[in-house]
Amino acid sequence: MALIVQKYGGTSVGSVDRIEVVADRVCSAARQGNQVVVVVSAMSGETNRLIALAKAIAPQPSPRELDVLMSTGEQVTIALLAIALEKRGCAARSYTGGQVQILTDNVYTKARIRDIDDERVRSDLGEGRIVVVAGFQGVDEAGNITTLGRGGSDTTAVALAAALKADECQIYTDVDGVYTADPRLVPQARRLDRITFEEMLEMASLGSKVLQIRSVEFAGKYHVPLRVLSSFQEGAGTLIVSEEKKPVEDPIISGIAHNHDEAQITVLGVPDQPGVAYRILGPVADANIEVDMIVQNVGPDGTTTDFTFTVHRNDYEQALEIVRQNGSSLGAREVSGNKRIAKISLVGVGMRSHAGIASTMFRALADERINIRMISTSEIKISVVVEEKYMELGVRALHDAFRLDQVPS
Ligand code: ASP
Ligand code: MG
Repeated sequence: MALIVQKYGGTSVGSVDRIEVVADRVCSAARQGNQVVVVVSAMSGETNRLIALAKAIAPQPSPRELDVLMSTGEQVTIALLAIALEKRGCAARSYTGGQVQILTDNVYTKARIRDIDDERVRSDLGEGRIVVVAGFQGVDEAGNITTLGRGGSDTTAVALAAALKADECQIYTDVDGVYTADPRLVPQARRLDRITFEEMLEMASLGSKVLQIRSVEFAGKYHVPLRVLSSFQEGAGTLIVSEEKKPVEDPIISGIAHNHDEAQITVLGVPDQPGVAYRILGPVADANIEVDMIVQNVGPDGTTTDFTFTVHRNDYEQALEIVRQNGSSLGAREVSGNKRIAKISLVGVGMRSHAGIASTMFRALADERINIRMISTSEIKISVVVEEKYMELGVRALHDAFRLDQVPS
């Protein structure tokens, strides 16, 4: 008998009909002899609807009250699912985060889970019941309702799986797994059978929004086997595992991620002296703006240098203003910016033990006459910044170059 935690997202419980479909799946998992805990999100669109209601009253509603409000979305779906399960003769009980208890810190709207009291869940499971838990919410020490940040139901599921030492945490969503690239850009993209936590984190942080990043971190830290699969079609989905569990014969590159969330800022002709990077980026950091890629050139004459970095597009105007203000005191010749950039990244743990990946990547881009503006690397990733208009072409060219459409033999 296995203990499985299943999580269904907002689209999977988006209507009464869909909740009935979920109930069929959950009942069948239980009837196969598994102990099943189900975590659900609010019906799709519901959380946004609730936030809009609050904002219609006050533009900046109190975070505490927002959490009281937002948590109601999940309370609706747990009850409806439990009703649907009971109708099928599958004994079930629903619980809010506060009832379980999922104890969090008191940072409203982005609380972190501190502890889970699994006693109630275990005793229900022991009595043969399916346990349905509201995702995305918890309670702080003082009993205040908290929420875990948008998409937080994934984190609830993983945390419950860790606390219960579940055999698997299954995240049911509207995609049937993790792909070698975004299928909307690359029709030949292939669903991966397996990916490592580290790779998944890179893919997620680079814009493949299949799972909430924090849930992947959590699963990796506690070694919770995590499976992403579709609630609308059959299939094994993608299993996210620790690196030791990944067969060595798996391909070197797992996937290609892309995003166009960043913008570039360039400072031309600053004195090539100690402290320059600090003087440019210090004030940016002081404004709580995160910097991603950084490139500094060796100046041609050894007296001046050029400095380029990227920030999130939402922070671009502010960062540019800060650097412009500092530019003159730095003695910079010019400060310029560019919002029309995109980042393309090759991700794969196999890179640790293989040379030549970067040159294959650069050649593939060169063959398409795509100019690389910045490069950064880590042990399992190579990222390049290119002009935004070449993003799709670049992703496709790399998908071809590394033959990611071919099923590994
Ligand atoms: N309902 C919440 C949201 O929309 C949590 C979740 O769906 O995971 O962000
Ligand atoms: Mg969601």
